[in-house]
Amino acid sequence: MFQHQAQVLWNQNLSTDYYRIGLSCPAHYAVAKPGQFIMLGFSGQTDPLLRRPFSIHRLIVSKDKLEGFELLYKVVGKATAIMARQRPGDRVEVLGPLGTGFIIPRTARVVHVVAGGIGVAPLVFLAIQLHAKNFDFSNCRVFIGGRTREDLLCLDEFVRLGLRVETTTDDGSAGDQCLVTHPLEAAVDRHPPDLIVACGPMAMLACVTGIAEKYHVPCQVSIETMMGCGMGACLGCAVEGGAGQDRYLHACLDGPVFDAADLNLVTGNGIIT
Ligand SMILES: Cc1cc2nc3c(=O)[nH]c(=O)nc-3n(C[C@H](O)[C@H](O)[C@H](O)COP(=O)(O)OP(=O)(O)OC[C@H]3O[C@@H](n4cnc5c(N)ncnc54)[C@H](O)[C@@H]3O)c2cc1C
Repeated sequence: MFQHQAQVLWNQNLSTDYYRIGLSCPAHYAVAKPGQFIMLGFSGQTDPLLRRPFSIHRLIVSKDKLEGFELLYKVVGKATAIMARQRPGDRVEVLGPLGTGFIIPRTARVVHVVAGGIGVAPLVFLAIQLHAKNFDFSNCRVFIGGRTREDLLCLDEFVRLGLRVETTTDDGSAGDQCLVTHPLEAAVDRHPPDLIVACGPMAMLACVTGIAEKYHVPCQVSIETMMGCGMGACLGCAVEGGAGQDRYLHACLDGPVFDAADLNLVTGNGIIT
């Protein structure tokens, strides 16, 4: 894990609140794993003082050379508003890659991917990496849920990689009007996959975990807990461990990707928000 000054390569507005930013990076990012994140800050800025965590969305490789990585982000507050104003050539402070990544066992053949809103960011990186390893996606499914049509991101990327995508929205503006966990459970009930991977709001992750438990399917979740330092110093990202774990785990060092059974997502410490 290193800190570097990253150059902004591009910063593209996708819709009202969503952007993609490309950032230059040193060579060690070539081994970054899907699920890992970076902490991004702005030198000379005291407001916001703390760096903010973002999942690596994809690596940018040109002619076999690593040029940088991309983040997919939603503007929700001060730091993300400043991010949205960055222009090519500007510089930001980056610390990373940090945390744990998804681990797809060699024996896994059918993997279902579940994304809620901006939680899709690390899952695209995972799909790209599996595709590069010639993973057979024919029986895999991607379930993407959002409040409204605008929150359904990266559908085309998954389809291009050969994945079948099902979408849901809360308001019915696209896909089925239901929670994303409804089509997930129907699919798991028809044919339990070898693994479920998920990233999104805590309530969604709790529900996905419940489905995985019910059908005895291994499940990995990436949690987007608020985080102060990203390095295990502030302990601000504590989450309640599941049975057999220490009482508290930390999203920055122990996660953000966890075996769902290692967390107490269903009755944990106010995690369902
Ligand atoms: C490991 C990890 C990976 C992440 N990856 C991404 C990503 O790829 N793309 C992306 O857009 N965001 C991601 N996030 C969330 C992102 O870090 C926050 O949106 C960002 O810190 C907000 O900063 P801000 O200064 O703009 O907003 P703030 O001013 O800090 O907050 C604005 C509002 O958003 C709420 N908020 C802030 N952070 C979170 C959070 N983590 N969960 C729930 N509510 C929050 C605050 O309570 C406040 O109401 C990730 C978080 C973690 C922990």
